[in-house]
Amino acid sequence: MAAPVSPSPDVVVVGAGVIGCSIAYRLAAEGRRVLLLERRGVCSGASGRNGGMTGAGSSMHARSAAGRAVYALTTRNLDLLRGLELELGCDFQLRLPGSLDVITTPEQHAHLAESVAEQRAAGIPVQLLDPRETRTLMPALAPDILGAAYAPGRGHLWPFALVNGFADAARRHGADIRTWTSVDGLLRDDERVVGVVAGGEAIPAGDVVLATNAYAPELLPELPPGAIVPARGQILVTEPVAPFLPLPFGTNFDKEYGRQTTGGQILCGGYRRLDEAEGLGTYEERVTAPVLSGIARCLGRLFPALRGGGVNVVRAWSGIMGFTADGLPLIGRYAPAPGLTLAAGFNGGGFSWGAAVGLVVADLLAGRDPGCDLEPFRPDRFHGAAGPAWANPFTAGEKNNPGRLQAEAAALATPVDEAGPVDD
Ligand SMILES: Cc1cc2nc3c(=O)[nH]c(=O)nc-3n(C[C@H](O)[C@H](O)[C@H](O)COP(=O)(O)OP(=O)(O)OC[C@H]3O[C@@H](n4cnc5c(N)ncnc54)[C@H](O)[C@@H]3O)c2cc1C
Repeated sequence: MAAPVSPSPDVVVVGAGVIGCSIAYRLAAEGRRVLLLERRGVCSGASGRNGGMTGAGSSMHARSAAGRAVYALTTRNLDLLRGLELELGCDFQLRLPGSLDVITTPEQHAHLAESVAEQRAAGIPVQLLDPRETRTLMPALAPDILGAAYAPGRGHLWPFALVNGFADAARRHGADIRTWTSVDGLLRDDERVVGVVAGGEAIPAGDVVLATNAYAPELLPELPPGAIVPARGQILVTEPVAPFLPLPFGTNFDKEYGRQTTGGQILCGGYRRLDEAEGLGTYEERVTAPVLSGIARCLGRLFPALRGGGVNVVRAWSGIMGFTADGLPLIGRYAPAPGLTLAAGFNGGGFSWGAAVGLVVADLLAGRDPGCDLEPFRPDRFHGAAGPAWANPFTAGEKNNPGRLQAEAAALATPVDEAGPVDD
């Protein structure tokens, strides 16, 4: 007797990172038949290789109208995170002590002073702290730092536990999650997307959601080149030490960042500008020596107690982010291909978006108003004769500043104890 034919899914979600798992959970919880396809394991992409920082808003977008939309959605995300440990039944070590954007140069000070003033005018409770106030919150910081922007209520979490929490909850609601299953293409009926092709099998579906982040262009050739670009990030982590970083931190226009995990390890990433081609345009998951030296240097610069080799680095890894031309994600129904919804291109901050994006996509697919401004995130905004112009604020100034890059590279060749501080 032939095997019973299972009904085709209402929705196929492609990609089991924080975005795809959150979407699958919300859709399954509403009773939709969900098939989530992932070509490696759950949380094996950027979602399993990141710093675990979470926050709201962005000092890089404070000046734009889009900044308000970013703040609204990421604040909603933060609110959702607060209730998710109970809702999902998993401990993802959410800690929200606030975060510090540490200032080490006059240039950073000017940028953050302006950004903090703009954010406060918009009602966002951030504060510019002087060096003494900053070191009161984080005594381990070097005495010569110039202050910090303090954002209350932000913090960090354990990404792997959260993503698996979403996946487990989606399964409990009946979602079918198939790992090691690559989607090879979209099934089309003229322009309409009517399913996917995976492992040679055509799988029809009412809706298809691409949550493939950096890999979105592979399945969507009509996305203009440069709309989403892979960007390699690298992280190192130390052996556990006694608690001494009460808050997660960023520095240097948020290009370096770090935190101490609940288990005591210090995790720090950044210095992408010392990677080959700034880590842009590569899908190769490997670490490179200049970047890791830069990160180690940054830790020594900010926290003198870590200089002198007293604390061992035990591991380093890399992951591939999806950077977008304007630094904003692509969220919404994709107008050129009805039936297709995109949730991709989360740059360096998917954990400030994932929980909220699950609800937004569930609303969109159900025809409900998601109750937020999605216009700045419209997935077809880069279409047009000119194509996308690269204005990603997380890369600006790096390619254009070769003198500083050379100075940094030279400084990195010198042991940190001999070289003294470097303005990064
Ligand atoms: C080093 C580093 C540090 C970071 N630090 C932070 C941080 O501190 N805080 C923060 O919020 N964010 C951080 N990020 C960014 C964050 O990790 C991402 O924004 C987020 O994980 C994106 O989630 P995602 O689900 O969209 O993508 P991913 O987690 O990359 O998931 C996409 C998935 O799609 C799958 N896929 C792709 N193509 C196919 C296909 N054809 N068929 C089936 N499956 C497919 C991939 O295998 C992958 O698992 C960092 C990233 C890196 C790399």
